[in-house]
Order: sequence, then structure tokens, then C-alpha cells
Amino acid sequence: MPSWWQMTLDWLGRDVLAPTIAPAFKNGLGFQHPQANRTLDLSGVPVAYRLVRCQRRSIGFVIRAEGLEVRAPKWVTLSQMEGALRERSPWILKKLQETQQRQTASLNQAPSWGPGTVFQLHGESIVLRSEASEAREVIGAIEAIEAIEASQTFKTKPVSLGSWPTWQEALAARELVLPKHWECKAKKKAEDPLREAVLNWVRDQSQDYFVSRLNHFAPQLAVRWTALSLSQARTRWGTARQDGAIRLNWRLMHLSPDLIDYVVVHELSHLRVMNHSPQFWATVASVLPDVHQLRRRLRDSTVP
Ligand SMILES: [Zn+2]
Repeated sequence: MPSWWQMTLDWLGRDVLAPTIAPAFKNGLGFQHPQANRTLDLSGVPVAYRLVRCQRRSIGFVIRAEGLEVRAPKWVTLSQMEGALRERSPWILKKLQETQQRQTASLNQAPSWGPGTVFQLHGESIVLRSEASEAREVIGAIEAIEAIEASQTFKTKPVSLGSWPTWQEALAARELVLPKHWECKAKKKAEDPLREAVLNWVRDQSQDYFVSRLNHFAPQLAVRWTALSLSQARTRWGTARQDGAIRLNWRLMHLSPDLIDYVVVHELSHLRVMNHSPQFWATVASVLPDVHQLRRRLRDSTVP
């Protein structure tokens, strides 16, 4: 999984498809059990652990994915128990560290894409399907009935599995039905061929959409753009050059249309003001008054 950097306006966020399970421990400063009720300093490392009092003869230490759990008989005093913990601190810290490393490794392993995977398109969740879902067939049937009622001619719109749909079709259906030979859109040795095929499908269609938005906003800003190129830099949403050449990141297609518009307007505004001065922001705001809210939302955005 690539690592995404989040910095200033034009920078991307973290991978949206990364598992959202919180790591068991707080990184950096010691170890934290989510249900901790005691904290102890072990050789300079703060360890928040869960203490369970139970009926048993000795003190037991368990290191689980969540962290350290201590089981102690009711008659053992806190200082006796903490003494026992300190005595075993090298072993406890080693085990906690190992568990944390395992957790981090498994979190960094992005799950590979398959039918049922959900990805974002124009800010909406789209489900990957190997064939049309029943819901879609039902909608198709209703459309067909309405068509009969409207024109008395029978119209059907069979779901074609031979080719990729347009992004607008996938967006309307909230699902992307994969064509039979979807793998042709990915390199032979792709690490995750389905992910690559779907993202290539998104990229292929981004150009036309960006052109339409550039043409929509350029007259409002009284600027002329001269060329559009696509980028997939992991660092920037877009750039503008003095000569009118605009570069937009096709991954913007994952975000909601108002955020795409914000980036388009941002770059077009640079054709008037080549810096981020108050004059620049006033130019952006002349077309998009809620620019500050859009900036904030873009900063928090994530793409696959
Ligand atoms: Zn800028």
C-alpha cells in the first residue's frame, strides 16, 4: 500500500481503503490497552494495562493483540503485583513490542480488490460486482414497465457485460459491473489486477470530465487554459503554469464534484494570480464563496 502524505492544500490524504481498525497501542509513547485500568512505568516505558482480580493462586500475565492483561488473586497487594511486573519487564516489553509490530504489519497489508469491494467515485460509494445485482435488475424491470406505460413499446436495457460502463452509469447504479475481460485494463504483472483495472477505468474517463469543468469555469474567471494533462502524483491535486497549461490529478474523480470544482477553480485562478496571496483567494472566492470550507474538506479527503 502506498503511503499518502498529508501536508498543505494540494496534498492527498491517507488511503481510504486501509483497514480502519485502530492499532492496539498508541505509537511512540509506551503501550496502551484499550480497557486499561492501571498504568505502570516499566524500565522507562509507560504501560497501561488491564488488571483483572480473580480467584487464582498466582499472578498471570497475558499479552494479547489489545495489550497487557494482568490476572491477580484478590489477596495480592498492588505493590506486590507491580513488583512482579517490574521483575518481568524485559519479557513483557519484548512481547508487547513483537505484538505491536505484527499488528502494524497486518494493518499495512491492504486487502486486495474483489467483487464487493467498495470504492469512491464522485464522493459516492460504488460496489464492484462481477454481474448485475438483483436490485439493478428490479430497477431495470420497473423502467421497462414505465416504458411500456409511457409509449406502449417494449424497451429493455440489457446489462452488457461485454464492455465497461461509463462512470456516469456506474454512479447512477452505485455499482460497477465488471466486463468479462476486465483484466485487459491492467498490466499482466499488476500486484492487484482488479484494483489497477478499475483505477485505470476511472483515469481514462477523467479527462473529458475535467475539460467540461475547465470550460465551465474559465469564462467566469476570464482566463484561458491552453492544455490539460493528467497526473497521478501522490502529492498534488493540481498545478497551473503561466502559459495556461493545467495539470490535474485524475484521482480527483474519487472525490465529490464540489471538491473537484474547487481544485479546477483553484488552478484556473492561478492563471490570474500566480501565488497564494489574499488577492488569489479573493479570485477563487469570486466563483466559489465557500472556498474555506472546501479547502478544509479537501484536506481531509482520501483516495484509494
Ligand atoms: Zn495553488
